[in-house]
Amino acid sequence: MTAAPKALLVDITRCIGCGACSQACKTANQLPAPVEPKLTADTWTVVLERGDGRFVRDLCRHCLEPSCVSVCPVGALTKSDDGPVVYDKSICLGCRYCMIGCPFRVPMFEWHSATPRIRKCILCAPRLERGLPTACAEACPTEATVFGDRDTLVAVARARLAAHPERYHDHVYGLTEVGGTSVLFLSPVPFEELDFDTTVADFPLPDLTWRLLLHVPNVVLLGAGFLGASYWLYRRRDQVAADEGPDRAPSTHAGPGADDG
Ligand code: SF4
Ligand code: SF4
Ligand code: SF4
Repeated sequence: MTAAPKALLVDITRCIGCGACSQACKTANQLPAPVEPKLTADTWTVVLERGDGRFVRDLCRHCLEPSCVSVCPVGALTKSDDGPVVYDKSICLGCRYCMIGCPFRVPMFEWHSATPRIRKCILCAPRLERGLPTACAEACPTEATVFGDRDTLVAVARARLAAHPERYHDHVYGLTEVGGTSVLFLSPVPFEELDFDTTVADFPLPDLTWRLLLHVPNVVLLGAGFLGASYWLYRRRDQVAADEGPDRAPSTHAGPGADDG
């Protein structure tokens, strides 16, 4: 029997910016200290201050139909039935297509390693396998981040919107964005005011991403040949290049947006 897909619900109205989630992520995933001010290969979730006492987590959204998985030519990234998008370093080519494909600019490359890996939040996949919640949800003192079945969390989010319309902007971010994600957000204000990308499509990106990749020159896929041009992907490539080395600049796509074995 397939496990019910798991997810996180991040309620920004409840977040006090304590950073317990980031610290717990470090501990659970044996990542070196300190928590950095942006997502890096060693910091898989951050809490970003967005003014007016509001704090926004950034982390992999574990898209229901992930672009990173779609563009990976060897299947080193996979979407698990129970929710996490996980990584297998043993077959990774280091091509970094996943970094370009991710609409939330999440995957990070270990630039300073002799054997670099792609690194990002793995939705605590090993903990989920043991029946445990994610470490960040477990550590959150205000239940600003909660863990559970995605369907249940969607219902919880909708119930909060219905019960307290004065408290929330009437939208669950991640319900439909890029076809839906496994990290959902509630906000007291329109999401664009918190630097969420509200221009992302309301449909899965993998097909689009592949169509674009198939039109980008200077990209060779497993020796299959050169691929044609696309403004969008050029822009993404330039954006990623600007963010690289060694890690991206502080995200303007906050919102919140591997196990390497
Ligand atoms: S947020 Fe990015 S890295 Fe995470 S699953 Fe979606 S496309 Fe992949
Ligand atoms: S860098 Fe690795 S995980 Fe990312 S797309 Fe290339 S082979 Fe796949
Ligand atoms: S789900 Fe796990 S890996 Fe992802 S940010 Fe939370 S603690 Fe880190």
